[in-house]
Amino acid sequence: MKDFEYFAARTVEEACSLLSQYKGEAKLLAGGQSLLTVMRMKLISPSYLIDIKGISDLDYITFDKKEGLRIGAVTTHRAIERSPLLKGRFPVLPEMERVVASVQTRNLGTIGGNLCHADPIGDPAPPLIALNAKVKLVSSGGERTVVLEDFFVDFFETVLEDDEVLAEIQVPTPPPHTGVAYRKFSIVEAGIKIAATAVLITLKPGNGVCKDARIVLSAVAPVPMRAVKAGEILKGKGIDDDLIAEAAQMAATEAQPTSDMHASDEYRRELVRVLLRRATKEALERAKMA
Ligand SMILES: Cc1cc2nc3c(=O)[nH]c(=O)nc-3n(C[C@H](O)[C@H](O)[C@H](O)COP(=O)(O)OP(=O)(O)OC[C@H]3O[C@@H](n4cnc5c(N)ncnc54)[C@H](O)[C@@H]3O)c2cc1C
Repeated sequence: MKDFEYFAARTVEEACSLLSQYKGEAKLLAGGQSLLTVMRMKLISPSYLIDIKGISDLDYITFDKKEGLRIGAVTTHRAIERSPLLKGRFPVLPEMERVVASVQTRNLGTIGGNLCHADPIGDPAPPLIALNAKVKLVSSGGERTVVLEDFFVDFFETVLEDDEVLAEIQVPTPPPHTGVAYRKFSIVEAGIKIAATAVLITLKPGNGVCKDARIVLSAVAPVPMRAVKAGEILKGKGIDDDLIAEAAQMAATEAQPTSDMHASDEYRRELVRVLLRRATKEALERAKMA
C-alpha cells in the first residue's frame, strides 16, 4: 500500500475543510472495511486519509414523528442492529443488519461508508430506498439533500463530489398501515449476495386495498433499482397470492442481472421472483398489523 498522510477529524467542518484542501487526493476513512481493502488491492492510492469515525456529531439514531428517522453517517451496522428504537419503529433495518457480513465487520463498518462505497450488493440501500430515504451531503460550500434512489450512479459510483461528506440518512415517518420487509439470498452465510428485494406496502385504512407499494431489487443491476412496474401491479387492489405472483413476475422482467462466477442471470431472475413473493407477503402482514 502506498504511504499516505493520516488526519483524525474532530468535526464535520474540519473533515470538509481537509477534503477541499486536498481535493482529489484525499479519501474519507470511516470503518475502513472496504476502503482499506481497495487500497490494499491498489485500486486506489489516496495521498491523504481523513478519519471521520471519531466525529461524535455523526454518530446517532433519533426519531421524531414530524422529522422522521435520522441516522448519523458513522453509526455502525451493529448499533443499528441493536437499536431498541429501530426494533420498535423500523424493524426492517435491524433485520437487514443481522445479515450484513459478520459481527466483527458490523462492529466496525458504518452505514455512511456502506452507502458511499456503493457496492451493488450492499444491504442497507434496498430497505432505505423502499422507505424513501434521503441523504444529507455536506461540504465547505454548503449542503444538499439527495433522494437515496438517485444517489447511486453505477457500480461503486455515487453523486458524491470529492469534497463532500455524507453526514446523515433521513427517513420520513411511514404512513399508517405500512409494512416493510427485506429478503436476501447468499449461497454461503455472510457470503456474496446473489439477489435481494425490499418491499414497502401501505394499505388504505378499513378495506385492505394497497395504497402504495415500493419495490426495490438489489444485486441484479449496477445500482439498487426500483421495480416500478411491479409496484404498480399491486397499487389500488386487494393483494392476494395471484397478484403477488404477477408482481414477482414483472419484477423478474424488470431486473437487469448479469451472469458471473457466483450465479447466472436466469438464476438471479428466479431468485427475484421467489424473494419478492416472500417479502411482499411479509410486508403485507406487517401492514395489516400496523
Ligand atoms: C468481509 C466483509 C464482508 C462484508 N459483507 C457485507 C454484506 O454482507 N453486506 C453489506 O452491505 N456490506 C458488507 N460489507 C461492507 C461493510 O459492511 C461496510 O459497510 C463497508 O465496508 C463500508 O463501511 P466502512 O464504514 O467500513 O467504510 P470505509 O471502508 O471506511 O469507506 C468506504 C468508502 O466510503 C467513503 N466514505 C466513508 N464514509 C463516508 C462519508 N460519511 N461520506 C463520504 N464518503 C464516505 C470512503 O472514502 C470510502 O471510499 C462487507 C465488508 C467486509 C470486509
